[in-house]
Amino acid sequence: MEPTEEQQQALQKVTDNDLTGLQALLSTAKFDIDFVDTNGMTLLQHAVYKGNHDIAQILIDQGADVNSSKHEHNYSPLHFAALSGKEEVCMLLLQHGAKSQVLNTVKRTPAQMAAFVGNHGCVAAINNFVPRSDIDYYTTPRGLDKEPKLEPALTEVFHKFIMQVNVHPIGILLFLRTNRTLVEKHRQVKAVLNLMCEKEMKRGHETNEVLSFKFHWLSNVLEELTMAEEGELMKEGKEKDVLEYCIKKLIKPSGLDQFVRVTVHRFPYIQSTLFMQIANGVASTIKDPHYEKGSLMSVITSAINGHRGFASDSQCSACSNEKATRRCSRCKSEVYCGAECQKVHWSLHKKGCKPASAVDAKKDAAKMKENEQASIADLVSQQLASQSLEVK
Ligand SMILES: [Zn+2]
Ligand SMILES: [Zn+2]
Repeated sequence: MEPTEEQQQALQKVTDNDLTGLQALLSTAKFDIDFVDTNGMTLLQHAVYKGNHDIAQILIDQGADVNSSKHEHNYSPLHFAALSGKEEVCMLLLQHGAKSQVLNTVKRTPAQMAAFVGNHGCVAAINNFVPRSDIDYYTTPRGLDKEPKLEPALTEVFHKFIMQVNVHPIGILLFLRTNRTLVEKHRQVKAVLNLMCEKEMKRGHETNEVLSFKFHWLSNVLEELTMAEEGELMKEGKEKDVLEYCIKKLIKPSGLDQFVRVTVHRFPYIQSTLFMQIANGVASTIKDPHYEKGSLMSVITSAINGHRGFASDSQCSACSNEKATRRCSRCKSEVYCGAECQKVHWSLHKKGCKPASAVDAKKDAAKMKENEQASIADLVSQQLASQSLEVK
């Protein structure tokens, strides 16, 4: 249906990012906030496509439907937010109940569309989002249980733990270092993660393979603590701290690769598309003649947080965090999040740390990354210009 004149004005204000103008109009408007234009797009869909967080917030406050499904190609608001490249807009929709497993007419989820256009931040934001209510489910006793599966006091820290975007085992262990309660209760936490892993696989058409695998992955990092406690550590008898023992073990490239292989092998849902993708990725990485020890981790990162062509120049050498800013002051070639990561990595790095100008190689890598981003930008503009957004 053709929008009315008043609706046209509202659409125009969203297009112009005119926040105050829109507010004024909405205060007197008589139309339904979820009216659609000729392409089946609501105001909210237009706002999030433009990546305008504040306008989206106003529309949601006015009751706009975050799961509107009248678009001609079945793009949900989250699909449009994912294309906008704005993580905070994706988060806003998710926090208000946007569904992440909806498919458009080319059978792609919002995260897959974000990955397609190279918006990795959005992929990560969507794939790692867990509503708080999913955790609350475990903090009250169910059925015949007298005790809840998860102590209510752990809710907050557990939620933070599972929403962590950095899935590198060192990143996870460093998170635990500052959140010791999870280490103390790691068996309980592991059991809940295993239940959550199973649940994500059994949601019918809302099955979330990525989250299921992530929960499995986190559970296996905690399993390392159990193993250390019950066996490895007892034998050695030297180290006292389970966590530090695991950090030393997994910072080693061979230890990390071994962890990846075992954890992938243990994933129970071998029929899932994601498992096949990961298993193939692991197999082809190992077969690659240029295979370097420690590189299997990239298969996991790209499965959970979207594909990346090149390792970023600002990636922490210890925990793979994307936004590392501190360089090793001596060799200038390694980058870290901070002193903690540098310290953890030193046992490996000390041999190679020379005050030389090995910086040139890094510069080349940065150049390549720039080129890659330019070509993705081209691709996106072509795609969006046609508005057909066909993906094969
Ligand atoms: Zn780091
Ligand atoms: Zn160095």
